[in-house]
Amino acid sequence: MKYAQGEKKNKLHLVYELPNGGLTQPVCGRKVESYRMTINVPLGHSCKNCRKRINSKVFNENEFLKSYLK
Ligand SMILES: [Zn+2]
Repeated sequence: MKYAQGEKKNKLHLVYELPNGGLTQPVCGRKVESYRMTINVPLGHSCKNCRKRINSKVFNENEFLKSYLK
């Protein structure tokens, strides 16, 4: 899991790395065209909705990744 920023000054969203080196869309469901940077630790403000979703008991990583791994 990585933190990724879409546009400058935007919050850091949580994303997953794909086997092909790509990144998923943010876990919170926001659509981001492309990321300007990714980091392993949240240095700025990370997205509250991403954190909430990751921490929720119903969130399933495999289920989330399924649509990317076809
Ligand atoms: Zn987010």
